[in-house]
Amino acid sequence: MKNMKTICRNLLAVTLIVVSIIANAQEKKLPNIVILATGGTIAGAGASSTGSAYTSGQVKIEAMIDAVPNIRTLANLKGEQIANVGSQDMSVKVWLDLANRINELLKSKDCDGVVITHGTDTQEETAFFLNLVIKSDKPVVLTGSMRPSTALSADGPLNMYNAVALAASPKAKGYGVMVVMNDEIHSAHAVKKMMSTPVQTFQSPDEGMIGTVIFGDVQLFHKPHSLNTTASEFSVDGVKELPRVDIVYGCADMSPDLIDIMVKAGAKGIVIAGVGDGNMNAGTLEAAKKATKAGIIVVRATRVPIGAVLINGEVNDKEYGTICSDELNPQKARVLLMLALLKKRSWDDMQNLFINY
Ligand code: GLU
Repeated sequence: MKNMKTICRNLLAVTLIVVSIIANAQEKKLPNIVILATGGTIAGAGASSTGSAYTSGQVKIEAMIDAVPNIRTLANLKGEQIANVGSQDMSVKVWLDLANRINELLKSKDCDGVVITHGTDTQEETAFFLNLVIKSDKPVVLTGSMRPSTALSADGPLNMYNAVALAASPKAKGYGVMVVMNDEIHSAHAVKKMMSTPVQTFQSPDEGMIGTVIFGDVQLFHKPHSLNTTASEFSVDGVKELPRVDIVYGCADMSPDLIDIMVKAGAKGIVIAGVGDGNMNAGTLEAAKKATKAGIIVVRATRVPIGAVLINGEVNDKEYGTICSDELNPQKARVLLMLALLKKRSWDDMQNLFINY
């Protein structure tokens, strides 16, 4: 009887060990994904589930992961809190921290992909910045939400689930940095925040979305055409800050002295969110010419949400020394110009960057 008891106890112990070995082996088969949290509405909280008032960046990454049903069935997840701000407070410092951490993580064979949770206001800028400076073809996916975590029908949990599914998918290698929101996958180059509050705010009106991810099912349609990540010439290795680049918004009868004020304040580059095809009034064009003669790089972008700015349209760019933003909107043109200004370049070299990236 005593022997029988010992045999049973030993059998139970062996069974438990085998079960735990199998469970471990299964866990190891899942991809390893790191979620870097930066704040935003996805981490926001409000007093009422039906009111519009809330504060961004209130919930920490562990609680955000725990709030998403079944997310741990997609990947082995680790969370890191890089910042916890509304993305109106996103900064070059956080961009550099993110880029350095992502490059470090993706160098390791223990990390298969990265998800970044981010406010939507400046998400396209962070995505585009990372698209230029990440040195890996492993998936890097940004996501966020339009409704805070406490809202009725909060969109954050499903966006996060889908972002992890995309980052964990072997299909997603080599697509550059992507943005996942509202079941859609967008390239960092093409994505734009098009609406102030609706959940379908992220769109790629010039090129279209690159895929969909519906309850974790990833479909990718086409690769982005612009240079990114492993094909990009930009690097932030050892970079501590970026040159100042300001944006001036074009309108009827705009004030030319805004350009002079930016130059006096220390801007090394100026992006003009011009009217139409990157146009500006005669006084502003003269101020721009004066700035380019003084060595400031002036880029003509447009305040219009869709369409490219073309070289030598109504402005003779070679004569004025101005550069065309091509398809990049003013905020993305600013990001590219900040990185481009880390090195001295000819007009042709600078213009080509805006065509190729
Ligand atoms: N200001 C917020 C942010 O960008 C709102 C946008 C959001 O996250 O949806 O963080």
